[in-house]
Amino acid sequence: MSEERTIPSDEAGWRERLNDREYHVLREAGTEPPGSGEYLETDEDGRYVCAGCGAVLFDAETKYAAGHGWPSFYDAVEGAVEFRDDHSHGMVRTEVVCATCEGHLGHVFEDGPEPTGKRYCINSLSLDFDPSE
Ligand code: FE
Repeated sequence: MSEERTIPSDEAGWRERLNDREYHVLREAGTEPPGSGEYLETDEDGRYVCAGCGAVLFDAETKYAAGHGWPSFYDAVEGAVEFRDDHSHGMVRTEVVCATCEGHLGHVFEDGPEPTGKRYCINSLSLDFDPSE
């Protein structure tokens, strides 16, 4: 699932492409239940691509076990994600979205490991895994 996909021009197109759970996370900034994600324990080499548009987002080398209930990465592929202030749910957080399709991925926090100190806390539902050959 590493090939770039076209980006639907409207929400009806996204409804067709994504299942209900993916739509809720990617297009409505939802959050999958902690500990439920398909890629929580994944530890293989490869890369994680956007489940919406196929853009490469995270290298598996930057994935680590943060113990927060969602897949965590200490870095994103350069230029692959964008950041937005998020004041929902009575918190001040930094939302992470796909730079290509603007799909919601998760949030980034400042309590990650070296070398970046970042913790990208990302929904499995926003990702597809592309193992390296
Ligand atoms: Fe995308």
